[in-house]
Amino acid sequence: MEKKRIYLSCPTMHGKEQEFIKEAFDTNWVAPLGPNVNSFEKEMAAYTGAGHAAALSAGTAAIHLAVKLLGIGEDDVVFVSDLTFSATCNPIAYEKATPVFIDSEPDTWNMSPQALEKAFEKYPNPKAVICVYLYGTPAKIDEIMAICEKHNVPFIEDAAESLSSTYKGKQTGTFGKFGIYSFNGNKIITTSGGGMLVSEDEAAIKKATFLATQARDPARYYLHSHIGYNYRMSNITAGIGRGQLMFLEEHKEKKQAIYKQYKEAFADIPEIEMNPMNPDGDSNNWLSCMTIAKGCSVTPDEIMDALEAENIESRPIWKPMHEQPVFEGYDFIPHNEDGSSVGSDIFARGLCLPSDIKNTQEDMELIIGIVRKCFGR
Ligand SMILES: *Cc1c(COP(=O)(O)O)cnc(C)c1O
Repeated sequence: MEKKRIYLSCPTMHGKEQEFIKEAFDTNWVAPLGPNVNSFEKEMAAYTGAGHAAALSAGTAAIHLAVKLLGIGEDDVVFVSDLTFSATCNPIAYEKATPVFIDSEPDTWNMSPQALEKAFEKYPNPKAVICVYLYGTPAKIDEIMAICEKHNVPFIEDAAESLSSTYKGKQTGTFGKFGIYSFNGNKIITTSGGGMLVSEDEAAIKKATFLATQARDPARYYLHSHIGYNYRMSNITAGIGRGQLMFLEEHKEKKQAIYKQYKEAFADIPEIEMNPMNPDGDSNNWLSCMTIAKGCSVTPDEIMDALEAENIESRPIWKPMHEQPVFEGYDFIPHNEDGSSVGSDIFARGLCLPSDIKNTQEDMELIIGIVRKCFGR
C-alpha cells in the first residue's frame, strides 16, 4: 500500500462551508454576486478592521486592481519585494510598468527598509511600493511606511500569505492604501480560489468592484467608458469563504503550534535556523521554513529528497524575482553594502517544511526525525 501523503499546506474544511453553499443552492443564488458575497465582504472587513472590502476571483486580481486604481501604467516605476511569489509583481507587468525589485532583510525575510531607501535615491518617483509578508510574517512595517510617507508614495500590502497576522496589534493588510488577501487552495483559509482587496477608501473599493464587473456604466443598455475585468467572486465561492473565516483563528493557532514544535525539535542543531519572527508582530506561520547554516554540507535538496522518499511534501523558498528569466533586465536593489542579495542567500539555504494543520503528531515526529537524520542526529 502506498504511504499516506503528508502535505505542505492544503484545504481544511469544517462542514460549515457547505451550509452556506446549500443556502445559495436552495435560493438558486448560484449566479455571480448575491448575499454570500456581500456578507463575506462585511465579515472580512470586520475581522481585519480594514474598512471596506471587495471580494474577487483571485488575490492576483486584487493586486491588479490596486495597481489600476493607482493609475500605474507605462513609464511608471514600482518598487516591489524581490523574495516573493511571482503574483506579487505580475500585475505591474500587466500594466507595462517597470518593477524595481527590493531585497529582503535578514530579520524578517521581508522588504529591507535600507534597500528601499537606496531605491528612492536611484528612482525618486516610483508610483507605488508593493510589499509582501512572506510565509505570514509581517515586515518592518513602521520603517517601510515612514519611508513611503516621506516620499509621498502609496503603500500596497500583499498580505496573501499573512491573513490573521498582526503587527503591533493591527492586522496585516490594513496599513497601506490597499491590502490584498488570497483564498487560494493552499492559503490559511481557502475558497478553492479567490481574493479580496481592502482599503479605508470606500470610493476606491467601489471603483474596484465596478472594474471587476466589466465596468458597466449605469444605463439600461450595456454602456462602457472604461475597460473592465471579470474579476468578481461568485456567491458559491463566497459561501465557502464565510464558513472558513469562522475557523481562521483556529487555523492560526495550529499553524503557530507547528512552527513552535519544529523550532523546539531543532533547537539542539546549530546548523538549523527557523524562519525569523518579527518581535513587533504575531505571525500566522502560514508555512514554517528553515535555513541551513553557511558552510554546512547538508543541502535543502537533500532534505527535500529525504522527505519526498517518505511521500512528504516540502518546497524550496520562493526563487527571488531578480533571478527569474522573465524579469531579466529589471533592476534589483540589494540590502547588503557589498551588493550581495539576502533573498538569494535565503533561497540557496532554505526550504519550506510541511505545515498542514491536519498533520498528526505522528506525522510531525516522522518529519522531524527525517530532518534530524540529515544532520546526523
Ligand atoms: C498566493 C499568493 C498570491 C496570489 O494569490 P491568488 O489568489 O493565487 O491569485 C499573491 N501573492 C503571494 C505572496 C501569494 O502567496
